[in-house]
Amino acid sequence: MNYAIPVPAAPAIPVAGSDTLFPVRRIFCIGRNYADHAKEMGAAVDRQQPMFFMKPADAIVAGEEVEVRYPSATQDLHHEVEMVVALAKGGADIPRERALDHVFGYGVGLDLTRRDLQAAAKAKSHPWDAAKGFDQSAPVSAIHPASVVGHPKDLRLSLHVNDALRQETRLDDMIFPVDAIIHELSKLWTLAPGDLIYSGTPAGVAALVRGDRFIARLGDIAVLQGRIF
Ligand code: MN
Repeated sequence: MNYAIPVPAAPAIPVAGSDTLFPVRRIFCIGRNYADHAKEMGAAVDRQQPMFFMKPADAIVAGEEVEVRYPSATQDLHHEVEMVVALAKGGADIPRERALDHVFGYGVGLDLTRRDLQAAAKAKSHPWDAAKGFDQSAPVSAIHPASVVGHPKDLRLSLHVNDALRQETRLDDMIFPVDAIIHELSKLWTLAPGDLIYSGTPAGVAALVRGDRFIARLGDIAVLQGRIF
């Protein structure tokens, strides 16, 4: 095939315990998946209908130790620590009871948010893309295969910034657990190998500034360390 310009490199994430990479196709995110976070944002808790948005695949910054540039056009960059789910298999209308069979593995990441732009978008009923889908808005740890670590049940998810605990929850507090998210997403999109899912954040979202160091942890499975510069 002759391409008119060089084919862009495929975004990819290291797979823990191996020399392979997980290629990223799309990044789906669920909003308001922990009641305490919905409450702190002044949003209603909807247990019937999940709310999804997306980031571009090349928003990932992947590794155990990452450097994230403070984004342009915001005065209020927020962290949202989230478990990240990587899919090995796709499909449409995936039954909830078979949903976990589609998972390749798990990591921990930050759904970085230009909170000021998000608030402005909400006020005007505009889309969230500039608030959520900017460059380097999706730092993520290595992916740990479910074949090694299993499917996380009631793990602790936490974020420290400059050694202070900012966010902490148990995965049990998710309104839509992973199998339900996959089921619901697959009603809206035909899911595919390489798709990533950011599974929502608990309360405690707050600002990051240049020089901050962060450590996100998913139980004893995954860790993501980094710095804002
Ligand atoms: Mn989020």
